[in-house]
Amino acid sequence: MNAATPLFGRVALIGVGLIGSSLARVIRRDRLARHIAVAARTQRTLDAATRLKFADSTSLDPAVAARGADLVMICTPMSAYAEIARAIAPALKAGAIVSDVGSVKAPVARDVGRALPDGVHLVPGHPIAGTEHSGPEAGSAELFEGRWCILTPAAKTDKGAVEKVTELWRRAGSTIAVMDALHHDRVLAITSHLPHLIAYTIVDTAAQLEKDVQSEVIKFSASGFRDFTRIAASDPVMWRDIFLSNREAVLEILQRFNEDLTALQRAIRQGDGKMLEETFRRTRAIRKGVIAAKQA
Ligand code: NAP
Repeated sequence: MNAATPLFGRVALIGVGLIGSSLARVIRRDRLARHIAVAARTQRTLDAATRLKFADSTSLDPAVAARGADLVMICTPMSAYAEIARAIAPALKAGAIVSDVGSVKAPVARDVGRALPDGVHLVPGHPIAGTEHSGPEAGSAELFEGRWCILTPAAKTDKGAVEKVTELWRRAGSTIAVMDALHHDRVLAITSHLPHLIAYTIVDTAAQLEKDVQSEVIKFSASGFRDFTRIAASDPVMWRDIFLSNREAVLEILQRFNEDLTALQRAIRQGDGKMLEETFRRTRAIRKGVIAAKQA
């Protein structure tokens, strides 16, 4: 496709927090759409979208933004999906593409797909990029550069629609992988959801210690705790939704994690240095692999 030709006529972004506003900035920067329509829950966010100059029109009603759109990108917490899908369905034109950026993929077909009329193409997606910050001011056009974006369309989905969403993320600087939604959710349970749950646990355990110890925790946080506090500062609503949406995969991986943790606990109790060292050598090799894959 010619780089000068916009990919889309009208794009509707439902939700313009960290992820939605970052995508809006990319679309604006590279002129990927002729019109960017933005919907959010509060006027404050719509005003920010206007002030930051990435919205051509704004509305508190997602159906108003979605009317006549070639692409509707849902960028809200996942608990809002079903209601948004019901609201936009009557406004969608034939041939429109509906996509999203949610961190769990299996529920999208159920919460969004079922509400969509025939002739509308659903191409769920998940950019593996983000920060612990939220809101339209936190976004940046560079957020997706050098990162993966995973698409999970059903096998029967229109290939042209998948190609258009692929091209959008390519222009954002991402590398695209296409996979089954359930497979995505199992992989992300270990690479993202479990680490967040562990971080939330560690930081909450520390927070519940007595006040004097707590001040020492902050003081000496550079010894490891600090990195967990960054992850545990992630958006509470978004992460509540992720754990509730990916329940089965998270519980399965948590079971395995508990078993491995118990094995390490036993090794410490029994003074089994060999087991500890072997484990830590294996994990160090994984880190080298992450660096080699440029994901560090
Ligand atoms: P965010 O910064 O909190 O922004 C959420 C946006 O959704 C806000 O604009 C909010 O509007 C809007 N919204 C909430 N409920 C709505 C509703 N019922 N109708 C219309 N708009 C509504 O969130 P985010 O970090 O961008 O995350 C958005 C999605 O991206 C989530 O599904 C998350 O799983 C996924 N994701 C996040 C990351 C990350 O690191 N943050 C990474 C990858 C994927 P108001 O401001 O007006 O309330």
